[in-house]
Amino acid sequence: MSAPLLPPEISSRIAAIYKEIEEQYDVVAQELGFSCTGCTDNCCDSYFLHHTYSEWAYLWQGLAELAPEKRQEFERRARDYVARSREALAHGERPQIMCPLNDAGLCGLYRHRLLICRLHGVPSAMTRPDGRQLLFPGCFRCQEITGDRQDVVRMERTPLFQEFVRIETAWLGQKRKVLPKVKMTIAEMIIQGPPHFSHCR
Ligand code: SF4
Ligand code: SF4
Repeated sequence: MSAPLLPPEISSRIAAIYKEIEEQYDVVAQELGFSCTGCTDNCCDSYFLHHTYSEWAYLWQGLAELAPEKRQEFERRARDYVARSREALAHGERPQIMCPLNDAGLCGLYRHRLLICRLHGVPSAMTRPDGRQLLFPGCFRCQEITGDRQDVVRMERTPLFQEFVRIETAWLGQKRKVLPKVKMTIAEMIIQGPPHFSHCR
């Protein structure tokens, strides 16, 4: 593939925040005695939308490192995913389709998986700009451990999201104000190719 998609300093910041998320996740999971081992479900079929150009480009950085045949296989699956998800949405249903990057139950692009993939599982909390706190209970299997308790240990999403806003601003600068908002599945990010900004200054 062609030139690097992200400046090295932006790429390093994304790798660093992803690593921090992994560490925080492990602390919470350990404290709850929770792990994915033996799970009969696979949450990679959850319908999630992603919202940053930085993560989109970082995903493509991982795709660009793959052998062309593997990337083409993911692209084929992504086209199929998009067609099927559009059909489900047209019928008013929430799509439940395996992520095109999932290889026999495992993430085929693990180092480049997105923020939401990394948060899913354990309980977490987030404070919105208006001060309202949102609580996320974790996946169904984690809820089997925590029950309906509210006082469980949680990951704090707010500083993680704030760092992604800073990364997005550091990379895109003024362009961030005029670019369309990102609201895409991983499959859409794959079939659209890496983000390009040639149409704006
Ligand atoms: S990117 Fe990886 S972890 Fe995320 S949904 Fe797809 S297969 Fe699962
Ligand atoms: S996060 Fe939860 S649902 Fe997903 S694989 Fe792990 S245990 Fe299963």
